[in-house]
Amino acid sequence: MIRLENVTKVYEGGTIAANDVSLDIPKGEFMFLVGPSGSGKSTLIRLMLRDEPVTRGKIWVAGKDITTLPKWKIPYLRRSVGTVFQDYKLLPNKTVAENVGFALEVLGRPRSVIAPQVAQVLELVGLADKAKRYPRQLSGGEQQRVSVARAFVNRPPIMLCDEPTGNLDPKTSVGIMRLLDRINRTGTTIVMATHDHAIVDAMQRRVIALDEGKVMRDDALGTYEGLGEEE
Ligand code: ADP
Repeated sequence: MIRLENVTKVYEGGTIAANDVSLDIPKGEFMFLVGPSGSGKSTLIRLMLRDEPVTRGKIWVAGKDITTLPKWKIPYLRRSVGTVFQDYKLLPNKTVAENVGFALEVLGRPRSVIAPQVAQVLELVGLADKAKRYPRQLSGGEQQRVSVARAFVNRPPIMLCDEPTGNLDPKTSVGIMRLLDRINRTGTTIVMATHDHAIVDAMQRRVIALDEGKVMRDDALGTYEGLGEEE
């Protein structure tokens, strides 16, 4: 579903944020990207979104080589990829339902199609009763649920999540992880960057550990530190 081949990213100024990274992420996988701050987790996510161009190497997403994708085709790529960020990125002057439906509106879908799709996904994230609220009237955990609903509303095959629990307390984080787990079970491939040890250890999924832009470890059923596997 996603493939990186010898991907290197050197930012202006010379920082090597991805250093010869090769990865194969099959359809339906739930994969964690872990590593200390500055190790290159966000960079890999941004490269997979074509938010940043690669310096060297190739990236395929949903069957397309995105490193050679012309700029005007980037919005098409984004339709196959839902995104969730640490800071929710909701539109403050739109209601929950409007935030979730906005992307479909932009695609020109008729209201009769948008309304039931939005209702269904709000049900999935447990916010059916808060559809008319504004983001400021929600807790952080609820805002993140809205952001997950928005990412998933058009059922993309891939979701890329960058520190989605970074602003949440442990209990609220567990709720978000349950939700991502449910979405993954529908067949959606999920890549999640995090430095939350407890979450990674509890989920027991594939773990890619990065350091200074390099893949240090790739464990099929991993923990954050990889304990028990080394010795
Ligand atoms: P992480 O997500 O693991 O914290 P990042 O991918 O954000 O790591 O950063 C990796 C490295 O690249 C860091 O050294 C960071 O300072 C640098 N970096 C990130 N974004 C940019 C940028 N736009 N320009 C220059 N350097 C950057």
